[in-house]
Amino acid sequence: EIRFDGVSKSYGEIEVLPAFDMKLNDGEFTVLVGPSGCGKSTTLRMLAGLEDLSSGQILFDEKKISHLEPKDRDIAMVFQDYALYPHMNIAQNMSFALKLQKVPKPEIKKKVENVAEILGIHNLLTRKPGELSGGQRQRVAMGRAMVRDSSTFLFDEPLSNLDAKLRAKMRTELAEMRNTLNKNMVYVTHDQVEAMTLGDRIVVMANGLIQQQGSPEELFKSPANKFVAGFIGSPS
Ligand code: ATP
Ligand code: MG
Repeated sequence: EIRFDGVSKSYGEIEVLPAFDMKLNDGEFTVLVGPSGCGKSTTLRMLAGLEDLSSGQILFDEKKISHLEPKDRDIAMVFQDYALYPHMNIAQNMSFALKLQKVPKPEIKKKVENVAEILGIHNLLTRKPGELSGGQRQRVAMGRAMVRDSSTFLFDEPLSNLDAKLRAKMRTELAEMRNTLNKNMVYVTHDQVEAMTLGDRIVVMANGLIQQQGSPEELFKSPANKFVAGFIGSPS
């Protein structure tokens, strides 16, 4: 279980996230939704350890993790802007974290090839990120997280650059991943269909505040306010 406990975030004078609590249950697929600028990426970045908290703490099974370095958090993240290493080829990008963890080479090779096959990027492994399309880079960014054996995966709009067909395919892969691996997954999206089909639990954010957290059914049947109703597409 992951718990945000009175976490807030300011950049200089500007408070982008007033203190909030949030709970992510073990093995659940949590979807974070909300308008641009509401603080979704900031929330993921704080959980991954890439951004300091202005107040509060983050707990992992009641153990405080918000002071730990990113590499000590057992969390893999797929970034909104991919953040691939430009000088490394795709296979090297995907194996980087595993090399740091001293995973044996043959095992790394097997994992990378396996994930690349699933994502349809096996023919791109020797290319550099600069030689790929946006959608291909997005799949590499996803692959780089998927090869890791972390307990928690964070996805920041991982499908936003893909065409409709590929999006549908990747959505199926993600659902498969959710069903077969017992991982904590936190997934940011603008896409209502993605949220409703993938999420065990949905957190709706707006204006830096959590408007509602609950199962897709709960949000649909009893939205807390007009904003939630509008997003979920429920009749009330
Ligand atoms: P989007 O859907 O567009 O990706 P988001 O919900 O992910 O939006 P964040 O990237 O978390 O939004 O940003 C939340 C707020 O914090 C925004 O108003 C943004 O301008 C601000 N912000 C983010 N990073 C910084 C920074 N390094 N310095 C100052 N302000 C920042
Ligand atoms: Mg964002």
